[in-house]
Amino acid sequence: MAGNANPFESLQSQIDEAATHLDIGDDVLERLKYPERVLETNLSIERDDGSLARFKAFRSQFNGDRGPYKGGIRYHPSVTRDEVKALSGWMVYKCAVVDIPYGGGKGGIVIDPAAYSDSELERVTRAFAAELRPFIGEDRDIPAPDVNTGQREMNWIKDTYELLENTTEPGVITGKALDSGGSEGRVEATGRSTMLTAREAFEYLGTDMEEATVAVQGYGNAGWIAANLLEDLGASIVAVSDSSGAIYAADGLDTRAVKDFKNETGSVSGYVDAEEEFSNDDLLTLDVDLVVPAALENAIDEALARDVEADVIVEAANGPITPKADAVLTDRDVHVFPDILANAGGVTVSYFEWVQNRQRFYWSEERVNDELETVIVDAFDALTDTYEEHDLENFRTAAYVVAIQRVVDAFEESGTFP
Ligand code: GLU
Repeated sequence: MAGNANPFESLQSQIDEAATHLDIGDDVLERLKYPERVLETNLSIERDDGSLARFKAFRSQFNGDRGPYKGGIRYHPSVTRDEVKALSGWMVYKCAVVDIPYGGGKGGIVIDPAAYSDSELERVTRAFAAELRPFIGEDRDIPAPDVNTGQREMNWIKDTYELLENTTEPGVITGKALDSGGSEGRVEATGRSTMLTAREAFEYLGTDMEEATVAVQGYGNAGWIAANLLEDLGASIVAVSDSSGAIYAADGLDTRAVKDFKNETGSVSGYVDAEEEFSNDDLLTLDVDLVVPAALENAIDEALARDVEADVIVEAANGPITPKADAVLTDRDVHVFPDILANAGGVTVSYFEWVQNRQRFYWSEERVNDELETVIVDAFDALTDTYEEHDLENFRTAAYVVAIQRVVDAFEESGTFP
């Protein structure tokens, strides 16, 4: 991680910045900057050797004006209360920017999942599900995968919830495996919306994707799918990375072969057809047409932003650019297409999954991908219209202007209680 900005302060400054372009009173603005509630809990589980282990965990419900709280649960040793609060706020504005009927939430467990066995992880996950049970529900708060969680964890949470509630309610959580009520296209959705945003951005800016060179930081679910789909559009993926470092090939990497290599060895480093290997920071400052940060927050701080050579950045990760770095990039005419649009495919297909769960009627992958494309392209158009109409300094501010207005409209239509 290059920067150490507090993500919650980053979120609040992004809201403040956008609010200067909106007619919103300070009192209403204040409401938009803090979570409605945060659950902090300590989970105790028995380890395989019989000893007890304790893990701190959080669930932040940021804002429910537009619908049930929605957002993932991450497992990472660096999870903090402020990080979860920030991520839950970003979910509010993400759901609003793509206009799906949800508020925002996020959860996290402070854990390095690589250090625990599968059965220990199952016990931790089920312990968290039991703690979350009174706070979640398909009309209340709907968790989903995030960093280091996936179908397996979602299935455990669904199963624990349904057992304790004595019901079947697959829509209590999204990102499930297909046979447990998951949706076609959900696994690929975050990478797909990143590709769609990049495609629309290049068209908007008048740049040819087939001539483009691309660097992707992070080769997890979002990064690898984005790289693969951009390669399908004809772009040349010259560099990719994971926490082990970055690999480079001037004529482009075969993204599928790199994925197979990572599946076998655990990392992209050492990939046979790479011409060079360097650090993640070197990847982010490569002279390419497009950089896709697809790892964690704060990947690009103010100092690194001064060295960015790309013309366009499309954020697949949540919060990869600090506000100070944003200001530098705006000054340097680097166009940033923000996380709350670019990675919104994940939550959008979660919404489709939830709709399918509630109707007990399942869609084809083609239908999911077509509906996703419509949502992302419409959101992109709303964002660029706002950017032009308000003569805004960058696309992030445009996204927040669109999103905040929608949240405020919902709030003002409903009023306050008591
Ligand atoms: N964790 C993903 C995100 O940050 C997906 C959330 C969801 O599907 O609810 O957008």
